This record gives sequence, C-alpha cells and structure tokens, in this order.
Amino acid sequence: MAVDPLDYEKCLAAAKAHGWQITQVLNTHEHFDHTGGNPAVIAATGAKLLAHANAKNTISGIDRGLKAGDLIKIGSTVEMETLDTPGHTMSHVCLLSHTETPALFCGDTLFNAGAGNCHNGGHPEELYDTFAHQLAQLDDNTLIYPGHDYLSNNLEFTLDREPDNERASSLLIDVRDQDPNAALVSTLGLEKEINTFFRLHSPSVIARLRDAFPDLPEQPDARTVFLKLRQLRNSW
Ligand SMILES: [Zn+2]
Ligand SMILES: [Zn+2]
Repeated sequence: MAVDPLDYEKCLAAAKAHGWQITQVLNTHEHFDHTGGNPAVIAATGAKLLAHANAKNTISGIDRGLKAGDLIKIGSTVEMETLDTPGHTMSHVCLLSHTETPALFCGDTLFNAGAGNCHNGGHPEELYDTFAHQLAQLDDNTLIYPGHDYLSNNLEFTLDREPDNERASSLLIDVRDQDPNAALVSTLGLEKEINTFFRLHSPSVIARLRDAFPDLPEQPDARTVFLKLRQLRNSW
C-alpha cells in the first residue's frame, strides 16, 4: 500500500527495491499534496484507490470508500483499521495497524508535536474531538507516521507555549538537523510529552494561554484550551 504517494517516483522506486507489489493506494484526505501522485502510481501498478467514502466528489477514481472500523488487508499478514478522523478536513481517515507494535498513519491530522490546521475544509471543534476521543485513546507505544515532517518547527511552538518543557527542548537539539531519510519516528507516548495539543491540562500551558486570552476561566476545560492553542498556532 502506498499512502499519499505524492512523490510517486520515490514510492515506485522504494517498492521495486524491496520487491513489493503496490496493489492499493490510500489517500488520507483530499488535498492535492496527498492525492497528486495517484494517477502515476495507479498507471504503473494497477493499484486500487482507497479513501474516505465522503471524499467521492473531491478525489477522483476511488475504488473503495472507507468508513470507521473498515479493515484493510495488506499482503497476507498486515491488517489496518480505518479511523474516521475529521478536523483537518471532514473526509479524513487515519489508518491504525493491527500489529504487535501498532502504527498510526495520520495524514494531516496529527503531526509530530503538532496538529493539522483547519483552513481548507476543516473545523477545530471536530479536530479536538478526534484528538481527545480517538488519538489520545490509542496505546502509548503506537508509532506515529504523519503526512509531513514539521517536527522542529512544531517543537518551537511547544516551547513558545510551554517554555519549561524539558523533553521538548532536548528533543529539539537532537532533531534540528536530522536527515529526512532517517527521521525520528515518534510514539503516542512521546507526543503526549512534547505535543501541546495533548497537553491541555498542563499548568504552564494554561498560564501562558492566559497571557494571550486574559478572560480564560480559572480552570478551562480541555476543549477550550485546544481551540485557543489551535487559534494561536494559526498566526504563530
Ligand atoms: Zn491536508
Ligand atoms: Zn498535507
């Protein structure tokens, strides 16, 4: 399976080098930087195209429309579960592998140390629900494979919001000049330490937030903190 294979030459070359046959292309959502390689990969392999069932008008040529809980077989051993994860767009899926160490392919919903924006067809309220009720519930050892590498920049945002986050500051030193071809793969447990959007109860996050929003309640609920952080990130 090729997930969001925009760089189709790289995907086809990687498959060839490993002796893999690409039989499925999965789009996490409808944005062009995720779908733009579909025609070339499908032309080269005859792969079937999978995406959120509600993306049928925004992604052309879907062979299999996905809904929450749908299982996808890859080869003879790997099974992936579809999570319906609105927020970045309203037709966004993440895939969770049913493997000994679970892996999450999360498109533009969850980034390393960050969350997707909602400017192009999304809604922050739904993004909060996806984070709180789906992603945060996964096992801490889940490996995180986002659609883009924004780790360093996002860690800067974490530290802007939570200057005393020592895990984030030491990680930033480690990854600032990392080789993109050997990038850190984080886990959900690590994200809970370094990703502001999972740190909604942190006293220092809330204290800093009050500087920007003086009318913040004494003990703001997690949804309010998330929405304010998402708002600040838009202009950060
Ligand atoms: Zn996107
Ligand atoms: Zn993207």
